[in-house]
Amino acid sequence: FSKRKGKNKFQFYQEHVDMNLREKFIIETDLRKAIQENQLELFYQPQVEIHTEKILGFEALLRWKHPKFGYISPIEFIPIAEETELIIPIGKWVLETACNQLKELNDKGFSSLTMSVNVSQLQFTQTNFIGIIQNILSDCDMSSGNLELEMTESIMADFPLAERILYQLNDLGVKISIDDFGTGYSSLSYLSRLPVHKLKIDQSFLNPLSNRNKTIVKTIIGLAKNLNMEIIAEGVEHEEQVSFLIQQNCDQAQGYFYGKPMRAKAVEERLAMYLHN
Ligand code: C2E
Ligand code: MG
Ligand code: MG
Ligand code: MG
Repeated sequence: FSKRKGKNKFQFYQEHVDMNLREKFIIETDLRKAIQENQLELFYQPQVEIHTEKILGFEALLRWKHPKFGYISPIEFIPIAEETELIIPIGKWVLETACNQLKELNDKGFSSLTMSVNVSQLQFTQTNFIGIIQNILSDCDMSSGNLELEMTESIMADFPLAERILYQLNDLGVKISIDDFGTGYSSLSYLSRLPVHKLKIDQSFLNPLSNRNKTIVKTIIGLAKNLNMEIIAEGVEHEEQVSFLIQQNCDQAQGYFYGKPMRAKAVEERLAMYLHN
């Protein structure tokens, strides 16, 4: 791997599939220690109601502060964590940390805030996933309706399994969002038969905001409304995207325009502004 110029971050020369075994082994070895050595951190990005810009909740995004390489993006290490099944303990740490953070915010008076947590396919299909979620909800003594799990369309590849787990989560009161919607290959029939609460329009459809992409965004918004699902646009960076989304009756948005992923401390500062007005 190489250091990315001007950034304290590295990138692999090739796709992960082409990474040599030695490189993978180094990352894997280091990643194994990452939890115990407190190198993992969660950042939180606001999700807002577009017309009021009110913060409805946050998405927890994982960061790895590597002792030698600095911050490594999840895009670079999640695939390795999945391949090595380290995503199981890492994913559990993410859920616990995010829920504890949410509980703290809820207790500070922000009782309706939600927390969205990304869940990998492998995590979702592990035998005791429901049990893990139940334990976390009771340990954190929080309202299950404030927890949202983000999964990609790929969960539908095994429909009977997805159906079973999603209904169990739904019975617990946990919400389900489909992340990066429109980039996978969902069956609309499957989608309509699952207890999905929200579709997240993938950021590639807002960047660039071409006519072709506008058509896709409109269609996804219409689909969500017709299926009685909530809708949120990801990757909103510019005013132009905001006005288009308002015009199309998109209810929620997330992106640099509203706030970058931030540390817990900054989250509290940002929220404190609401208490003073
Ligand atoms: P995602 O879940 O689709 O998250 C959105 C990504 O877009 C995040 O990248 C976020 O920082 C970035 N983003 C947000 N707003 C903007 C914007 O306005 N413009 C642009 N260009 N980007 C924006 P990040 O944090 O690097 O995460 C990348 C992916 O890594 C996530 O995509 C998710 O698939 C995965 N990931 C992150 N944390 C976790 C985790 O705890 N568990 C699992 N399984 N996957 C995770
Ligand atoms: Mg996500
Ligand atoms: Mg996404
Ligand atoms: Mg993604």
